[in-house]
Amino acid sequence: MFLLVGIDTEGDNQWDAAARANQRFENIYALPRLHALFARHGVRPTYVITYPVATDPRSVDVLRGLTAGGDCEIGAHHHAWETPPCTPEDVRRHPYAANLPLPRFEQQLASLTAAIDAAVGARPMFKSNPASRRCSTKGTRAAPTSSRRR
Ligand SMILES: [Zn+2]
Repeated sequence: MFLLVGIDTEGDNQWDAAARANQRFENIYALPRLHALFARHGVRPTYVITYPVATDPRSVDVLRGLTAGGDCEIGAHHHAWETPPCTPEDVRRHPYAANLPLPRFEQQLASLTAAIDAAVGARPMFKSNPASRRCSTKGTRAAPTSSRRR
């Protein structure tokens, strides 16, 4: 039996419209403490990150520090309201992936994975079913296998 540990990471308090409009990332800055706990127990977590996390310089520094140890992976965490292309109205409206036209959803996945690649040097690979829009993501440093890889 295997236990997979995936940690959703995103801006603080995404359920509050004011917090979404004024992003803070205190939870990301605290990840090294959580990571130390995982390390003590031999857990290799996957931190799935949103576009704002991947483009926040201090968050990127934290994530690079975590990945430098080689005992975690970075994956993608899609938020339809804050992944480009998106609008300020999306931040207020708080749409989900199922609310997006498929081309826009695909554009958002491309911008999200590119931002993660720029942040930590590894582009998550998606295995998706566009009809259901369910994705499994896994950050990897392995050889490119996706058609979207450079
Ligand atoms: Zn989320």
